[in-house]
Amino acid sequence: GNESRVQAISQIVNRKLMPGRPPKRLEDMWATDVYSLSKMQESLPKSIFKSVKNTIQTGQKLDASVADVVAAAMKDWAISKGALYYAHVFYPLTNSTAEKHDGFISVQGDGSVISEFAGKVLVQGEPDGSSFPNGGIRSTAAARGYTAWDVTSPAYVMETDNGMTLCIPTVFISWTGEALDKKTPLLRSIAAMNKAATRVLKLLGNTEVAPVNSSCGSEQEYFLVDANFTTSRPDLLLAGRTLFGKPPAKGQQFDDHYFGAIPERVQVFMQEVEERMYRLGIPAKTRHNEVAPGQFEIAPVFEAANVASDHQQLTMTILRNTAKKHGFMCLLHEKPFAGINGSGKHVNWSVGNATQGNLLDPGDTPHSNIQFLVFCGAVIRGVHKYGPLLRAVVATASNDHRLGANEAPPAIISVYLGSQLEDIFGQISRGEVKDSKGRGIMNLGVETLPTFMKDAGDRNRTSPFAFTGNRFEFRAVGSGQSVSGPLVAMNTILADSLDWIANKLESDLANGTELNAAIQTILKEVMDEHGAVVFGGNGYSEEWHKMAVEERGLANLRTTADALPVLKEGYIEDLFEKTGVLTPVELESRYDVYAEQYLLAIEVEAKLVISMAKTIIYPAAVRYLAELSGTISKLKEIGIELEKESAEKVAVLVKSMMDTASKLSAALSKHDFASTEDHMQYASQTIRPLMDEVRQYADALEGEVADDLWPLPTYQEMLFVK
Ligand code: ADP
Ligand code: MG
Repeated sequence: GNESRVQAISQIVNRKLMPGRPPKRLEDMWATDVYSLSKMQESLPKSIFKSVKNTIQTGQKLDASVADVVAAAMKDWAISKGALYYAHVFYPLTNSTAEKHDGFISVQGDGSVISEFAGKVLVQGEPDGSSFPNGGIRSTAAARGYTAWDVTSPAYVMETDNGMTLCIPTVFISWTGEALDKKTPLLRSIAAMNKAATRVLKLLGNTEVAPVNSSCGSEQEYFLVDANFTTSRPDLLLAGRTLFGKPPAKGQQFDDHYFGAIPERVQVFMQEVEERMYRLGIPAKTRHNEVAPGQFEIAPVFEAANVASDHQQLTMTILRNTAKKHGFMCLLHEKPFAGINGSGKHVNWSVGNATQGNLLDPGDTPHSNIQFLVFCGAVIRGVHKYGPLLRAVVATASNDHRLGANEAPPAIISVYLGSQLEDIFGQISRGEVKDSKGRGIMNLGVETLPTFMKDAGDRNRTSPFAFTGNRFEFRAVGSGQSVSGPLVAMNTILADSLDWIANKLESDLANGTELNAAIQTILKEVMDEHGAVVFGGNGYSEEWHKMAVEERGLANLRTTADALPVLKEGYIEDLFEKTGVLTPVELESRYDVYAEQYLLAIEVEAKLVISMAKTIIYPAAVRYLAELSGTISKLKEIGIELEKESAEKVAVLVKSMMDTASKLSAALSKHDFASTEDHMQYASQTIRPLMDEVRQYADALEGEVADDLWPLPTYQEMLFVK
């Protein structure tokens, strides 16, 4: 029966609200748990500090003698914060965060203990990473991998299952030098982009050019469901989404949740999340309700991509852990509830440096505007040339439920520029750049370029890749995903385009072409070759889907099975190899791991569909049927004819559900596939539709069976009871 549901609701209704935390001053919380540059400065001898600072700024390896001093000071600081353990934190190819904990404890000859943390332990670790998927890299190369401190991301202490732990962000590499993680390629992509951007900036006449980095600010959407419900939802526990459930009578039709008042219990939760983020130096900035009931969003102020990516991982961890503490389950799945808006992670991305500023910001002078157009053109070229790659890096089993549905960006990758910028690029491509007074001027000269108006208001929510005033916003990223993959792709395609531009400019200038004329020719070529990717209309519309594919030649890769094989294509391999971001072996290993994860995710869900249909839904339905048929025949004995259609309807649904579950079961036993691609297509074309079919019957049953016999917490309860 529905006892567990009733109990859950009574527990929620009677629960005592966690007390709000006493308000603290931001300055008293900010980065208190981070071993920051300023804390190093306080605790290290001057010469050592200078050396570390230099390492941090250049990303070079720490000198062994320096490392010992830094490690000792870091350990003392961590112990003063209550830490007994340290961990090298790394980011395997699974979107998760991994860490191996070791104690500072060291037993002496006389049986006494001291705490110890040597420089070499800080700098390098050797986790037993054999259980992490690596796409065959280590089985073919070396047996093990090691972690190495990424000095550009600061160490911190964090409350973990082991108590307070000193956490050191690291890269994870095989002994033969292959990247086994998500951080290493990100660092390499930043280096590649920096190199190409610096070339272009010098060619544009800048004498002083500071290192160029990329920035990232990511908006994280999530759902909160009371944990009293999730314990009786095996699908939420194991798959992170509901595999069954009839949409509630009241969904999000009224849009009244969006920017509505945040429920008090959720506010208390958010307050703790933010406090924990502040202590870790993560600049949480905005919080609000999202479109769907029970859905929320949190966004930090943007930071350097590498740090932002680490902080994003931490944010997901903090959201999950804090939710548990507050009696919630935090769902980061892209589509936890069918028929209700899903969750994404908009990745806001820009590139810039200390001397020229944000290179995707139009700026106030014509020179900076021309520079801006060059970088913007480079992005347009990259997104067009490598659109399928951008699709591939957001391809997961869970994101398939969101992309291409009528709420999230379409699976077709296009660029939205806003009307003003679209107009300027249109003029460039037609060779008729006008000034702001509308006079036709042939040359992209200093006096010709109009000043740009910031039109942040002009937003197109249907575009997967939109220019939003001073950055691009990649909206197809999944809510549960690491932002590294998307950042790697964006930095790398930009590096490729900037290199292409630099090569052209170099030879044009050598041939005596004037700089602005050369730029104009290059930008015209970019628009002639790649302008097809620019689209300002409604990305959800049927017409666009047709036009994009048929007239503009853009790819529409609907599913992960369609998108992931892009990683195996020659031009993608070339891109990563020539920019030095991933070797062919590393790229292949990523394809293998992501394909395997896709297949695993669908297999787990399919098995759950079968077991839940058989052991939870079927028993409830036949109990109801017994009750119903008993009543009908008893009534008949006393001469009352109750219509038997409803019993028949339930019987038919039960039988159809069980038949389909058996079909699904048989389909799952197929194991002989010619290739991984075939296997993925089978999962997407055969397994997924059968799962959906089982669900259809089950959800119809939910609408028939007596509520007091229905065992699964309903959508209505999970979304609205808090
Ligand atoms: P919206 O919901 O309107 O897109 P938000 O304020 O929720 O805006 O999120 C915008 C995100 O973009 C924030 O993380 C913000 O810090 C980030 N951002 C702003 N400017 C830049 C920039 N130049 N580069 C990268 N990210 C940026
Ligand atoms: Mg946004």
